[in-house]
Amino acid sequence: MRHMAQIRNIVVLTGAGISAESGLRTFRAADGLWEDHRVEDVATPEAFRRDPDLVQRFYDERRENILAARPNPAHEALARLDREWSGDLLIVTQNIDDLHERAGASRVLHMHGEGLSAWCTACDARQRWTGILRDEPPCPACGARALRPDIVWFGEMPYRMDDIFAALSRADLFVSIGTSGAVYPAAGFVQEAKSHGARALELNLERSQGSQWFDETRLGPASDLVPRWVEEVLGGAS
Ligand SMILES: [Zn+2]
Repeated sequence: MRHMAQIRNIVVLTGAGISAESGLRTFRAADGLWEDHRVEDVATPEAFRRDPDLVQRFYDERRENILAARPNPAHEALARLDREWSGDLLIVTQNIDDLHERAGASRVLHMHGEGLSAWCTACDARQRWTGILRDEPPCPACGARALRPDIVWFGEMPYRMDDIFAALSRADLFVSIGTSGAVYPAAGFVQEAKSHGARALELNLERSQGSQWFDETRLGPASDLVPRWVEEVLGGAS
């Protein structure tokens, strides 16, 4: 196990557990439901082709919930890490909310897209979006009524995988926070980081499906575990 002082490059992966503590419910692998909707009905390209109105209304609601939510102590601790950590840091999040950013973090990568972003399928422009999409507003860039949620749906390729794997290959420490370890490709990140020599730490409410890959697992709410871990890292680095 590497001593904290030898750690320069950190990759943090965050998942549903950290958003849940801010009151945002996300997709649950256990029953395949997201806010009582079947994933096949709201989170696939086929669903959008079949019933765009239902899908737009679903994400209009998600957008509203995101705007009403507040960052919790886990988001705030990661923002502190981002401010104070002088080595490389990448916070890869599977969450579509902007709570990491609102807490003050900037080294954040949204691999599954962003709830507060609209993507124009006509001109490919992406822009911050806080209103609704169900009334088919024109794209501010090109005028086409072709905006969709900027979300990676099931069956679509997650964003910036090259950047993520490059960071994992350089990581000294990989930390997974509040993820089920059930959804690939994110579930494979721990093995990737470990194959390049990183130490791996899991902070989760319960043991995940990938727990055996981690050097250490700490169980509890993210809002307790993350501030304590960040304190350890920053204390050990000074
Ligand atoms: Zn456009």
